[in-house]
Amino acid sequence: MHDWTTIIKKTTVADKESGAVNTPIQLSSTFNQTDFDHFGEFDYSRSGNPTRKVAEDAVAALEGAKYGFLYSTGMAAISSVLLTFSQGDHLIVSKYVYGGTFRILEEVLNRFGIDHTFVDLADLDAVRAAIQPNTKAIYIETPSNPILAVTDIPAIVAIAKEKNLLTIADNTFMSPVLQKPLELGVDIVVHSATKFLSGHSDIVAGAAITKDKALADRIYFVQNAVGATLGVTDCWLLLRGMKTLGIRMQQSSSSAQKIAEWLEQQPQVTRVCYPGLPSNSGHDIQLRQAKNGGAVLSFDVGSEANAKIVAENTQIPEFSVSLGGVETILSYPPKMSHAELNEEERAASGITPGLLRFSVGIEDPDDLIADLKQAFAKIK
Ligand SMILES: *Cc1c(COP(=O)(O)O)cnc(C)c1O
Repeated sequence: MHDWTTIIKKTTVADKESGAVNTPIQLSSTFNQTDFDHFGEFDYSRSGNPTRKVAEDAVAALEGAKYGFLYSTGMAAISSVLLTFSQGDHLIVSKYVYGGTFRILEEVLNRFGIDHTFVDLADLDAVRAAIQPNTKAIYIETPSNPILAVTDIPAIVAIAKEKNLLTIADNTFMSPVLQKPLELGVDIVVHSATKFLSGHSDIVAGAAITKDKALADRIYFVQNAVGATLGVTDCWLLLRGMKTLGIRMQQSSSSAQKIAEWLEQQPQVTRVCYPGLPSNSGHDIQLRQAKNGGAVLSFDVGSEANAKIVAENTQIPEFSVSLGGVETILSYPPKMSHAELNEEERAASGITPGLLRFSVGIEDPDDLIADLKQAFAKIK
């Protein structure tokens, strides 16, 4: 079955009792048991809830897997997956990892003896060199935020398999309709479902997905033990948002391609980061492992002053953090998502003072281009 069909079938699961085509929101913490000796599938909503089950099965199916878990935020999903590791374990992590993932590794998990090394995953020799006797996993995020650096997923998986390591991939930026890491051999996929999966900038949510029963058992154990599960109303909103994932990603990524090609021609723009562009160093790898360049790009307008002019003069995009909504979101990583890094760390990550991130929504791309054009005209 094609993704667009799977999405509708898996997000439209009729209620067995009433026939309601939309899954009911089961606002119940506890479930009546009819048998004194044998409990039913659901007993307490931290451990499992029927609405959450439908949404978890839907995200799993989209990634081509059997086991899905939903959390209160993307960071809850990522933290819970990382908590399946133990004191003394070591992880290799992409140096371009999401800021919240950086923080949980650097300031929380290290206090409990879960160690890590940040590596540029494009450098396969550096990845090999970073493997220690206690290394347990390699953590991938591709394309990365905000410069859209591409990691060769099958190449990392090959190294991991050779050394008996797990691989975890944050698939937030692509969504499962554009990239399926589990089909490329990755063991666990994580998402900030706040972004493209839900798609309407209305909820915060996270997901973890795997094909492997033993890994699923470990992940479920921590999900239930920590309890950072997604509330049922938000599960329903996620199901609702996901119904249009295919069509949203198609519109947003084709617009992003068009806008990136236009940006490359503008004299005010010194650099365009978008793996859908043939000029991008990650382009070939991107097209081998994903359908297209995705819906997020970033571009440099030369200075902070120019970035300010663009942010203040564009009329269509929301100037805000986050991404993946139906509305285009313009953000300024040096002061928003990457404000916690110092200037040196930002420079090392390619986050230059003139860099703006553009998460393309489903508006008409020509309107977005016209809007950028009039804002660029204000740059001296
Ligand atoms: C937003 C984001 C996260 C964190 O998700 P939250 O829902 O904000 O907790 C993790 N990874 C990536 C790539 C993200 O963009």
